[in-house]
Amino acid sequence: MFDTIIVGAGVAGAVAARKLAEEGNRSVLVIERRSHIGGNCYDCPDEYGVLIHEYGPHIFHTDEESVREYLSRFTEWYDFGHEVVANVGDKLIPVPFNLNTLHMVYEKEKADRLEKKLLEEYGEGSRVPIMKLRENADPDIREIAEYVYQNIFLRYTMKQWGQKPEEISPEVTGRVPVVISYDNRYFKDKYQGVPKNGFTPMFEKMLRHKNIEVRLNTDCRELLCFQDGKIYFQDEEFTGDLIYTGAIDELFDCRFGRLPYRSLDFRFEHLDTDSYQGHSVVNYTVSEDFTRITEFKFLTGQTDADGTTIVKEYPFAYTGAKGEIPYYAILEDENQALYEKYRSLTEDYQGFYLLGRLAEYKYYNIDAMALKAMELADRLMKK
Ligand code: FAD
Ligand code: UDP
Repeated sequence: MFDTIIVGAGVAGAVAARKLAEEGNRSVLVIERRSHIGGNCYDCPDEYGVLIHEYGPHIFHTDEESVREYLSRFTEWYDFGHEVVANVGDKLIPVPFNLNTLHMVYEKEKADRLEKKLLEEYGEGSRVPIMKLRENADPDIREIAEYVYQNIFLRYTMKQWGQKPEEISPEVTGRVPVVISYDNRYFKDKYQGVPKNGFTPMFEKMLRHKNIEVRLNTDCRELLCFQDGKIYFQDEEFTGDLIYTGAIDELFDCRFGRLPYRSLDFRFEHLDTDSYQGHSVVNYTVSEDFTRITEFKFLTGQTDADGTTIVKEYPFAYTGAKGEIPYYAILEDENQALYEKYRSLTEDYQGFYLLGRLAEYKYYNIDAMALKAMELADRLMKK
């Protein structure tokens, strides 16, 4: 029998498993329904030898020293300041919109004048959410906001969420603020990059421990059953800790209806050329049905593969059909209330913990997820 069972071998599951196995000396079973570990951070070489991120581009970025330090036990890093450009008309402009973008969009005299205003109003280095910038009383600043709204946010958000920026949670558009500086980086964090040899080898090393057993290709519902306040593992009562990182509605057979998610269709193409777009990520903010194109070589720094592989992301509403993956929780009050109904069902079960982007129905980045997993493991070890 295991001391702890963890469902899901993504960041949340893998970090919690390693800590509990190593520092808590617990025997840990990790159950993963996919054929691989790493969750949505999984990467692997494609048939042409190009290292790809199967579930979309993942860049590790953090200001959290403890997370960087913990993960660094399992990997070295290829560090870079991640930059993104948007394809707008005949131009590629830096995103988040910043002072460099301002000078590409407006002629010099106007750009200088607007820059001065932005600096006076917000101060050098400020990060202003687009929905806030639109509320500014100054018509010049509102003109910039209108440009950014129309050319960067409106259509991209419509594609990604099926809703306008003003209809979705401000937390979401606030992730990509207007930046009052000449910094072209997409994130502001101190550490940015990808594991030197890829995410998957990092997770392999993390899960390689004598106290951890990983079972792939296994849906937890084949092994676990919840009944009258008791958890059963392979028909025997399980009284250890159970950490669940999957979607909570699924675990309870969607009895209150499905939690809404946005999904993505990733379409990969290999091209017999050295470079397709010369950038790791190009956002299509005014045209096309896909949101962005990632060219992996420019993300991973790989130099030893012939040709190049790109991926286009087509968003759609998750329906729960076979093969679909729920990628993004939709942060709305109604959905949160439904989530709470499911969450309250778990209160009947002792030692049952929800952890992860799916299980908590939140918009976590990798670093936030790793930190939560570290904190939960620490808490459980103190019990
Ligand atoms: P997941 O990675 O989803 O892992 C959950 C695991 O549980 C999965 O492997 C799943 O198969 C398994 N599972 C679910 N149900 C069951 C079941 N019933 N039985 C067994 N196993 C089950 N974050 C960043 O910091 N930087 C980025 O650049 C970035 N880019 C992203 C791009 C995209 C397109 C997406 C969707 C997310 C991105 N993220 C990024 C967020 C990042 O993917 C998440 O923070 C992280 O993967 C969350 O880890 P997790 O362990 O909670 O979930
Ligand atoms: N966004 C946008 N245009 C862009 C980049 C982002 O409209 O060029 C909006 C969009 O609503 C997106 C949100 O900002 O969903 C958050 O962007 P982020 O890049 O953080 O999304 P993720 O990488 O998590 O998909």
